[in-house]
Amino acid sequence: MAATRLMPTEEGQDLIDLTREICDKELRPRVDEAERAAARDESFPTEVFRTLGKAGLLSLPQPEEFGGYGQPYEVYLQVVEEIASAWMSVAVGVSVHSLTAHPVTTFGTPEQQQALLPEMLSGDQLGAYCLSEPLAGSDIGSMTTRAVAEGSGGEPTAYRLRGRKAWISHAGHADYYTTFARTSDEEGRGLSCFVVPADAPGITFGTPERKMGLHCDTVREVMYDDVPVDASRRIGAEGQGMAIALAALDAGRLGIAAAATGLAQSALDLAAGYAQERQQFGRPIAANQGLAFLIADMEAAVTSARATYLHAARLKDAGRAYSKEAAVAKLTATDAAMRVTTDAVQVLGGAGYTEDFPAERYMREAKVTQIFEGTNQIQRLVISRHVLR
Ligand SMILES: Cc1cc2nc3c(=O)[nH]c(=O)nc-3n(C[C@H](O)[C@H](O)[C@H](O)COP(=O)(O)OP(=O)(O)OC[C@H]3O[C@@H](n4cnc5c(N)ncnc54)[C@H](O)[C@@H]3O)c2cc1C
Repeated sequence: MAATRLMPTEEGQDLIDLTREICDKELRPRVDEAERAAARDESFPTEVFRTLGKAGLLSLPQPEEFGGYGQPYEVYLQVVEEIASAWMSVAVGVSVHSLTAHPVTTFGTPEQQQALLPEMLSGDQLGAYCLSEPLAGSDIGSMTTRAVAEGSGGEPTAYRLRGRKAWISHAGHADYYTTFARTSDEEGRGLSCFVVPADAPGITFGTPERKMGLHCDTVREVMYDDVPVDASRRIGAEGQGMAIALAALDAGRLGIAAAATGLAQSALDLAAGYAQERQQFGRPIAANQGLAFLIADMEAAVTSARATYLHAARLKDAGRAYSKEAAVAKLTATDAAMRVTTDAVQVLGGAGYTEDFPAERYMREAKVTQIFEGTNQIQRLVISRHVLR
């Protein structure tokens, strides 16, 4: 059952309709087999991203002057939710791609925006966001990847990147790598941000991680062995990297919240349909209040999740502070996705535990939403700091 939407504009409604059409024609028929295949052979759905790119769905929230579609976050996130209701790995990919462009749209100079964004937002390219490291996960300030400045005095002309990033979505498939690296040891101001092209010499990739789910979201280590990067590709000032990373994550967390909501909606729809079909004791299992109330709680969780991300999106669209609300949305929506997908397996009974239905996949896919883009413990840290400061 498609979620009820109140779109702010007619254009937004058209975009949702287009997204639903693409999901029905291109995504839903492929997702089960593609996820199973990727678990075996690490295949990546490049052609699906190309389809979304051609339809303009890979660059919805970015400004029109740079090749984006200038859509409010309220619209963009509902599109992400729709995509997630069909194929979670792809929705996460759309959100990650948006995250990779955020530093340039928000902190880049006009020259950098003109030089980089038309290609990044063309719909033909996919980005990777390289922040985490093997020893720097929640504590990104402890990263050790270095960008060593080159040039004789004054402003650097280029940098050499040395180090290793971990858990990088799209690694090996991306066209560019938005990378954070240390340019000094100054506490809080030691990090800088670079857009590294995929064909830069010295950049290599580890083998894909064997994960619990989200198999079409290929995740690998990225190694930088003296990778040369022109100074024109450093986004923001030296030392501004932490602020850039955190600003991008505020926006990215909303993408994850929307995707988690779409995943939960699909699990709820599956469970509600099954509960009305499946007969035990001579009547549909949904006729038992014990089960009907479980479905009611699932509906309440999904509706609440959607409300939290839409509230944060509207603040963002109005140019207001939304960092706390983004953390609330990420925490609420991803915890809801975990609970709703787990309950969906329960509603389906033994069938829910088999690959005959997607409920078990939904449950595996939900788990990681509580971990990436800041674990839910880190969201609680962010929220409590806002409330208690
Ligand atoms: C499928 C997948 C895709 C990913 N994609 C990307 C990507 O594209 N780019 C990228 O940069 N990263 C990516 N990540 C990395 C992800 O963001 C990190 O896994 C996450 O930030 C947590 O870091 P960690 O795994 O090192 O856990 P740790 O930081 O080691 O945390 C382990 C546990 O300790 C808890 N913990 C840590 N510190 C605190 C604290 N102060 N208070 C309370 N609890 C705490 C955590 O909540 C967690 O439960 C991805 C991860 C996965 C699994």
